[in-house]
Amino acid sequence: MRYAVLADIHANLQALEAVCADVRRAGAERMLCLGDIVGYGADPRECLQMVRDLNATIVAGNHDWATVGRLNVDYFNSDARDSVHWTRSVLSTDEVAFLKNLDLINVLDGVTLVHGSPFSPDCFEYIQTNYDVEVAFEHLATPLCFVGHSHVPVIFEHTDPVDYFVRDEYEVPDDRQVIVNVGSVGQPRDLDPRASYVVYDDRERTVTTRRVEYDVSTASSRIVEAGLPSTNSVRIVLGR
Ligand code: ZN
Repeated sequence: MRYAVLADIHANLQALEAVCADVRRAGAERMLCLGDIVGYGADPRECLQMVRDLNATIVAGNHDWATVGRLNVDYFNSDARDSVHWTRSVLSTDEVAFLKNLDLINVLDGVTLVHGSPFSPDCFEYIQTNYDVEVAFEHLATPLCFVGHSHVPVIFEHTDPVDYFVRDEYEVPDDRQVIVNVGSVGQPRDLDPRASYVVYDDRERTVTTRRVEYDVSTASSRIVEAGLPSTNSVRIVLGR
């Protein structure tokens, strides 16, 4: 089975549509979504509907939970906080209930899905330092784990010391645990503005990171027109 693994869509409909078209080209049959469907972008409702229509297995991101009051926004920066309030103001009761009911972690066929880290998923920790990676592996019960949250695609291998690298084509080893950050569909932060996601083939044991061009100028203007923080519109153009 081929899975498309998407994270951090952030209400960017143009990016999501382009990624969905690419998922069809890549022949992925099942969709996994690692959260942050909403926040920052101008089309949270459309993105939510699209992900629901795809029958994706979804876990909650910090922006999803913050938007529906399940997470305190005090530690968000002001742009993120303003975006949360704007998003909340446009969602329907049904959409709010849907986001409220998302699980924090999901395990299917030896694969863990979580937004931040397998360590305290409700704290939405980033996996960035060596320490973060070690703690994440200590709390990981499966051979493979997909995460999002940092918006930067990277692969971590559970070796001593932990190894990490960026690779477009990757074969999952069977003698050590692996955590894959799939990057962000709607707001990449690795200075490459193209949407990022991965295709995981569980028979071939391969993970392919795919980058997809999309209409970033429309997504950017929609953010301005919606009255969202202007930083949100600039950063997607720059990929940071
Ligand atoms: Zn995010």
